[in-house]
Amino acid sequence: MNAPENIAKIPSTALPVSPLAAQAASTFDQLGLSFDDRLGSDLTVFSPIDGSPLAALRMDTPGDVDAMVANARTAFAAWKLVPAPHRGELVRRYGAQVREHKEALSLLLSIENGKILTEARGEVQEVIDICEYAVGLSRQLFGLTIASERPEHRLTEYWHPMGVLGLISAFNFPAAVWAWGTTVALVCGDSAIWKPSEKTPLTALAFAGLLAKAADDYDLAPNHLVQVAIGDARCGTAIADHPGVAIVSATGSVRMGQDVAVRVAGRFGRSVLELGGNNAAIIAPSADPDLALRGAVFAATGTCGQRCTTLRRLIVHHSIRDAFVQRLIATFATLRIGSPLDDATHVGPLIDQIAFDGMQGALEQARREGGIVHGGERLDLAGAADGYYVRPAIVEMPQQSAIVCEETFAPILYVMGYDTLDEAIALQNGVSQGLSSSIFTNDVREAERFQSAQGSDCGIVNVNIGTSGAEIGGAFGGEKVTGGGRVSGSDSWKNYMRRATATVNYSASLPLAQGVKFDLDIDP
Ligand code: NAD
Repeated sequence: MNAPENIAKIPSTALPVSPLAAQAASTFDQLGLSFDDRLGSDLTVFSPIDGSPLAALRMDTPGDVDAMVANARTAFAAWKLVPAPHRGELVRRYGAQVREHKEALSLLLSIENGKILTEARGEVQEVIDICEYAVGLSRQLFGLTIASERPEHRLTEYWHPMGVLGLISAFNFPAAVWAWGTTVALVCGDSAIWKPSEKTPLTALAFAGLLAKAADDYDLAPNHLVQVAIGDARCGTAIADHPGVAIVSATGSVRMGQDVAVRVAGRFGRSVLELGGNNAAIIAPSADPDLALRGAVFAATGTCGQRCTTLRRLIVHHSIRDAFVQRLIATFATLRIGSPLDDATHVGPLIDQIAFDGMQGALEQARREGGIVHGGERLDLAGAADGYYVRPAIVEMPQQSAIVCEETFAPILYVMGYDTLDEAIALQNGVSQGLSSSIFTNDVREAERFQSAQGSDCGIVNVNIGTSGAEIGGAFGGEKVTGGGRVSGSDSWKNYMRRATATVNYSASLPLAQGVKFDLDIDP
């Protein structure tokens, strides 16, 4: 149990102090951080574990965002002049801090977001990994040299820092998504403002607080290099609208992305959109049944169905469908559902009642559309009356009806059948989202076709693994209403820089491109 002085950080007049609030406060002490200057009464943060309040915070206003943008622009003017490998040094130091405090950060993340500890540790590891990736990148921000059509001319592309990054993130990956964008943007020479989800601001204050400390200790880092705007959609809108924010990276629902995209486009800003998915896996007759089962169960139920890459649709060949569904139902029944802080737990709580109501509404609609529902009910956990724990649901669907085409952010796995691979691919592609997809098959023709232009239309195309759990090296993101953005991995760093194409003439004449003649009579 934690020391009473930690408990005192949360204003006792406003909130009852729960053991989880004390634990969350204690992690800040371990990190050498405090959120005292953020205390207020605008935003109460709850733990999904038992619904208890963790803290009450003051929200930033659009006026505060204005001031942050001004500070960020000043920081950018200095930071862009620091050589990229020295910018990488800041990220290296930050990564070392996160590594040192991995356990405390994982615990805080689990308390505030509700994902099981092993997944929370995985998310913190992802932050550490992306720091290392960004440090390596800081020496590799190279452009091309292109063959010029003119003699004694050199044609080169340079990549320069872009400006202020405004990063809006979702509750379900409260640290990793920020780190994907911010660490890469930092080595690219940008400054950043982070608008985390209003459901997970404490995790944001902890991760950004460690970065601020690393920056304070690094004499090349200007003040206000990375700032946090705590607030709801109004804060996000202020960032999206602000002409001083060069890049808006927005991760969240399609509805949010539609609003942000239009605002940023309206001022000719750059946006990187990572929006909702509705991911499917095809189980072919040749699939290894155990592999497919394990892959499907983790992808469908991990993070309680609250990953953007969660498996939501299973398309199983008719010849194996009934047997596969029976095994799925039996395996779902063995899942241990409970506190995410218990190492034995497979599935923690949903984030809140809104998510639970959304899940129940979707199951009702699925029944109306002919679905047979297995599971999906709320579970009462002792001592967690206000936590929303559910048994993940399997829904056998007669066809890909309206509800199957929607992303419900909860553990619901719709199962459909197919006869031919063409039919399966058409079902897979037959939704508006285009994030992640997979096929389980031992038939090389099927596997290759699925990855080809005739196959999946998603940004992520997997063979013999589930739809979730991407590695950081590959470009991450999706097509169609998923937004088309690639926030990190591969050459996504180019999103955080601007390109300049330079032509240098080192000859004594001035030939024009495309052979254009423009002879002038000039007196010597
Ligand atoms: P959400 O859209 O409700 O909120 C996401 C963020 O956007 C929050 O910070 C919120 O305050 C802000 N926001 C909401 N409306 C806004 C607006 N109009 N203008 C500016 N900002 C606004 O999403 P959520 O419930 O936090 O997260 C779940 C969603 O995020 C799911 O759809 C999931 O698929 C998606 N997601 C996608 C990815 C990806 O990489 N594609 C990753 C994680 C989550």
